[in-house]
Amino acid sequence: MAVTDAVGAYARSFDDRVASIAGAAEQVPALRERLRAAGVDPGELTSVEALDRVPVLTKDDLIDVQAAAPPFGGLLSAEATVRRIFQSPGPLYEPELDEPDPWRWRAAFEAAGFHAGEIVLNAAGYHLTPLGAMFEEGITVLGGTVVPGGVGNLELQVRVCADLRVTGYVGLPSYLKALLDKADELGLGDSLRLERAFVAAEPLPPSLREALEERVPVVRQGYGTAEGGNLGYECELKAGFHVPDDALVEVCDLDTGRGLWGGEEGQVVFTLFRSGYPLVRIGTGDLSAFVPEPCECGRPTPRIAGWLGRVGEAVKVRGMFLHPRQVRSVMADVPEVARYRFVVEREEHRDVLRCEFVPAAGADATAAVETIKERVRSALRFNTEVERVEELAADEPVLVDTRTWD
Ligand SMILES: [Zn+2]
Repeated sequence: MAVTDAVGAYARSFDDRVASIAGAAEQVPALRERLRAAGVDPGELTSVEALDRVPVLTKDDLIDVQAAAPPFGGLLSAEATVRRIFQSPGPLYEPELDEPDPWRWRAAFEAAGFHAGEIVLNAAGYHLTPLGAMFEEGITVLGGTVVPGGVGNLELQVRVCADLRVTGYVGLPSYLKALLDKADELGLGDSLRLERAFVAAEPLPPSLREALEERVPVVRQGYGTAEGGNLGYECELKAGFHVPDDALVEVCDLDTGRGLWGGEEGQVVFTLFRSGYPLVRIGTGDLSAFVPEPCECGRPTPRIAGWLGRVGEAVKVRGMFLHPRQVRSVMADVPEVARYRFVVEREEHRDVLRCEFVPAAGADATAAVETIKERVRSALRFNTEVERVEELAADEPVLVDTRTWD
């Protein structure tokens, strides 16, 4: 697929910063060692394209690196001042550098309309996990006032929102829903004045979004990780996530690690160019793809399509990745089908995709075969064989890879 101007210009805008990695490697022994182990001369890192030569570091790799040289795996420079330390499952430790808005959420909150003088309920967790502090920093740097609600005490948080005339919410979308429901239950629903919400850390299905938007006029999503902070956020058009201009976000081929700038699906990989704690080519384990078209809102950075699943769950079929999430989405509303699974097989050195299905009671199974074929062809760009079977277990995985390579 062709790389469009919008996406290509974003990548090229990081060339100078990539060139700064050589200097950072002087200060950070573990980065220097990592480049050496990969056979990469730091002086050759002069463009985002050249950065492809640095293998992606997964979260599991990072856990091992830290365990080998606690606490931060030698990735922190001697000059860095650490203000807070967080712990994510793993355990993985995240140092927060002593600087304003170190996780860079400001742009995301600005895009959602958060502003100075506003009271914001921060319902993200504050304990060990970085999310609460991350969001607080972003609101504070905009001049907003934060109520550090964290998770829990729902009734008290409803009361806070009513008493203080809170207009902004940051936190999980499911928690916002619980908060609104609790307010109704307490007869305080009409006392709430929430004007905007910024939600992250879990999916926002359309049904939940709709329910939230009935009560809160502006609901925007963000995408980020505990290590990377802000890696994307919605604009007013809510059609994908604008990547930030202060961190390099790449979508990388799962096999080669090469940046995919033309809209192909791959792993979201980020690079933070901070001198105190440079993080180079960190894999998030999340799948996404760049949206080739520029956004009509006019913001300069391109968009990624949002969360398309986890890396480990995808299988490659005829050179294209197929993820259980895609399968579920295609089969979500086929009324003729009671149960199904997709099986990937190898016949004569060729990948074959086959859908097995149990028809719904009274359904026309022959029509179902055509419906499934057509849907898979148009939505997934795969040809699939379709076979009616008598039964499938309720907990059967929706995508099964039976190929062997010996
Ligand atoms: Zn936009």
